[in-house]
Amino acid sequence: MSNIDGLPPLRQVIADHGLSAKKALGQNFLLDLNLTAKIARQAGDLSECDVLEIGPGPGGLTRALLHEGARKVLAVEKDPRCLPILSAISDHYPGRLEVMNADALAISVADHLTPPVRVVANLPYNVGTELLIRWLTPDVWPPFWDSLTLMFQKEVAARIVALPGSKAYGRLSILTQWRADAKIVMEIPPQAFTPPPKVTSAVVHITRRDKMLFPANEAILTRVVAAGFGQRRKMLRASLKSLSPDIGAILESVGIKPTERAENISIEGFCALARALEGQA
Ligand code: SAM
Repeated sequence: MSNIDGLPPLRQVIADHGLSAKKALGQNFLLDLNLTAKIARQAGDLSECDVLEIGPGPGGLTRALLHEGARKVLAVEKDPRCLPILSAISDHYPGRLEVMNADALAISVADHLTPPVRVVANLPYNVGTELLIRWLTPDVWPPFWDSLTLMFQKEVAARIVALPGSKAYGRLSILTQWRADAKIVMEIPPQAFTPPPKVTSAVVHITRRDKMLFPANEAILTRVVAAGFGQRRKMLRASLKSLSPDIGAILESVGIKPTERAENISIEGFCALARALEGQA
């Protein structure tokens, strides 16, 4: 029996290839093509876009992206056992699927993609946050991507979209929202995956802005935010002490009380602080 896309059902594909899930690779597969189509559609009209997918696994999301009309998909997969499966998908969509057998953390993909580029992925949880931070902090802005449609653990998704004053607000919220708009567009229960993970997942859609919300030097902002949230229970005058001997006065010069904690400082406040520290250097 074949599926809506004319390829065999994913359960059968996995069984035929003996693809048992490896925990070390964060392998929790989505086998329902209706669900993967819904995720792919969150990325909008893909017909004029190249799509980067990290971790295609047996290709549930890859098939959806191609079936939904992506101009081209570049799929980066670390597990060589998935290659024959992905190669069959590539044959089914001639010239539209390029597969790289590589560790996504160790390669550069920009040369393989033609703008506009959208990233869509059910990320391996062990590398998801690291990849997101890299995509948000490239050497030059705008980055190679227009939007990121990514699956995370629900708690990580909440951190990405969190606002000041909430427990989830932190480094991920600021690095994301400073130069992009982010929203949670879907929640996905553990039972949707094979094998089911312990946690609920959520899809976040992030669209880049051409300009940052408030001016700041990215390297300095990143350092201030890392220091502030590295010791989030401490007052800023203590957690940011390593950045300047005059940190108390600098905080006051931008209207932030030195006794305040990082989780109550807006992105505007952090950017003002980064500018003040830059002026000091
Ligand atoms: N996209 C598939 C799906 O939705 O069913 C699989 C998702 S699974 C959560 C994550 C995938 O990422 C696995 O196929 C795994 O082998 C792959 N992976 C893990 N670490 C990786 C890395 N560093 N680089 C590229 N792929 C990786």
